[in-house]
Amino acid sequence: MSAPAARRAHFHETLGVLLFFILCALLLLRVVQAAAPRTALVLAVSALVGFVAADLVSGVVHWLFDTWFSRVTPVLGPTFVTPFRVHHEDPLDITRHGFVATNGHNCLASVPVLALALLLPTGPEAPLASAVLTFVLMLCLGVFGTNQFHKWAHQEHVSPVIGWLQARGLILNRAHHDVHHRAPYERHYCITTGWLNRPLEALGFFPGLERLITAVTGQRPRVDDLKQVVAPEAYDEEALRRAR
Ligand SMILES: [Zn+2]
Ligand SMILES: [Zn+2]
Repeated sequence: MSAPAARRAHFHETLGVLLFFILCALLLLRVVQAAAPRTALVLAVSALVGFVAADLVSGVVHWLFDTWFSRVTPVLGPTFVTPFRVHHEDPLDITRHGFVATNGHNCLASVPVLALALLLPTGPEAPLASAVLTFVLMLCLGVFGTNQFHKWAHQEHVSPVIGWLQARGLILNRAHHDVHHRAPYERHYCITTGWLNRPLEALGFFPGLERLITAVTGQRPRVDDLKQVVAPEAYDEEALRRAR
């Protein structure tokens, strides 16, 4: 990326982070205003479901761009596929990114969702809309946290507070995420908290989707990614078969 293009991207990402926090603060204010004894339970459940949903979103997006497409796929390749390929080649690269570079993309993706949520009516007299708003707020906060939690899971040293959250499984921890970076490179796609990895694997969720996509399109999963993980010079059909 040229220097002017990099500066432009950094400006957009910084703007995205600022807008994200402003919109979250406005939404939080609406949630607090909507809180009342009779809505407290439904708002608490909505908040938890929103945070769990963020883990699911992280898993589906991560699986999608790990498994299908390549760096040269039009539109999707440079923006979405390349960061995942780079991360597999050099898992510590993410730890060298600053706050805006780590979180800017996810903030930009969440801004339209948060802005739309602000149009909902809220208050104790609109418990359903308040629950939706709470869900959206926690979903977006979880999506925002995903790259940061993922980065911390790769860092050698983290602050005691982050270490405490990781040790209790409240955010993604290193031992859990390490499974994703080991052969056969097709497990633990969820990277917000990782809570859904084992349930989804017990259900055969991603392998089922892959079989369906292969049946419909004839494409095989992870071919492009495994060419790099197995190393291009060693890549052949046999290596791919063993790795899978
Ligand atoms: Zn991956
Ligand atoms: Zn990773």
